Amino acid sequence: MSSDCLFCRLVAEGDHVRKADGFVAIKDINPKAETHLLVIPEKHVPTFREISEFSADESKRMLEFIAETAREQDLEDYRVVSNVGEGGGQTIFHLHWHVLGGRMGGFPG
Ligand code: AMP
Ligand code: ZN
Repeated sequence: MSSDCLFCRLVAEGDHVRKADGFVAIKDINPKAETHLLVIPEKHVPTFREISEFSADESKRMLEFIAETAREQDLEDYRVVSNVGEGGGQTIFHLHWHVLGGRMGGFPG
């Protein structure tokens, strides 16, 4: 946990739509779609580039958590996006996944 990381703080004390197994889902504060959630692992890893810091089991459970979060929101068709690095549109350097469904307003980032 890094105290100067917004998402570490939100994982610890945010308003969670869903929480299980080392992962949380929150509503994006600036939604780019009718439904726009962020799936955030508790473990602080700056970007998707460092995905190998998660074990095979953690990675699988993270992907399943994303799918289950979308299912719970009654989304059948949706997008899952991770912006990687500044050039990839990333603004918060704690790995997270955008889950976007319904009417879309623009690409997140
Ligand atoms: P990214 O640009 O991929 O790093 O995504 C960061 C996302 O975090 C953006 O879509 C922001 O709207 C969202 N965001 C920033 N601050 C908050 C917050 N306090 N609560 C929820 N979402 C946030
Ligand atoms: Zn963090």
